[in-house]
Amino acid sequence: MRSRLIFALFSIIGSAALAQERSVAITIDDVPNVHLYASHGNSSGLLKKLDSLNLPVAIFINEGNLRQNKAFEKNKELLQSWISRKYITVGNHSYSHPNYGEIGFDAFTAEVLKGEELTRKVAEQAGKKLEYFRFPFNGMGKDSAEQTRMQKFLTDHHYISTPFTVESEDWLYTQLYEKALKEGKIEEARAIGNRYVDLSLQLFEYFDRVAQVAAKKPVKQIYLCHDNQLNTDYLPVLVHKLREKQYRFISLQEAMADPAYQLPLRYYGNAGFSWIYRWIENVDNRRSLMRIEPVDKKAQQAYEAMTKGNK
Ligand SMILES: [Zn+2]
Repeated sequence: MRSRLIFALFSIIGSAALAQERSVAITIDDVPNVHLYASHGNSSGLLKKLDSLNLPVAIFINEGNLRQNKAFEKNKELLQSWISRKYITVGNHSYSHPNYGEIGFDAFTAEVLKGEELTRKVAEQAGKKLEYFRFPFNGMGKDSAEQTRMQKFLTDHHYISTPFTVESEDWLYTQLYEKALKEGKIEEARAIGNRYVDLSLQLFEYFDRVAQVAAKKPVKQIYLCHDNQLNTDYLPVLVHKLREKQYRFISLQEAMADPAYQLPLRYYGNAGFSWIYRWIENVDNRRSLMRIEPVDKKAQQAYEAMTKGNK
């Protein structure tokens, strides 16, 4: 079964046809990063870069971040400056980023509501709606009953649960990257940034192919990354390379209008993997595909060594 499936995956050539249909919505989680903001003299480097990239972006807010240092009023200005940008769609990512599967229904719904208090007001002042929600860790609940219950809560509160299809462990790379920068190892930092871009491009290619298996057609991709130093410096590089590969940058709304996002979800656990895998009904097929997903072992080993060293 496995070899037949993988053969099917890699015999999907049609790259010319595929190329014309390539599109992606960029989404950024854990906004705003108040530590970077403070260390850069109350300025967000990522936001500045995005201003010049000329593409739509959706951001997912953790309001709790505004309390991560003592500069609450300044941090509020940062939140306002993100939300005020015309090209930005705003979403709720819970107040303090807990894992629904771990804290349960009551605590999690309280987190959803606490996470929108300020954001909804600021969004309204900017003439925007707050209608997207993304689960922290993309954990939608530990079984189908929990998932259905939370889905109903979100629908009742006029939220759309937001999927993603491609992510490339930027949270891991940024820790290696920031450490290298701090130690003045500029070449090493650059190499880490380039590895992040390379792995991301491989993953786009891979998920474009898996989409052909899971959804039987090209899918409008949704890329998930985070508000961090790595993306401040390397998201523009990734965007440039994706443009070279003929990707069109679209809004989250346009991506989610792809009928693929209406496909039933076949996974009822709390793991945070790509929605493309969740559309695959056969568990063995899903696992086979996961085993051939591109990984950067060197970066993972470096991260393990670093976190062990910190203990
Ligand atoms: Zn997050």
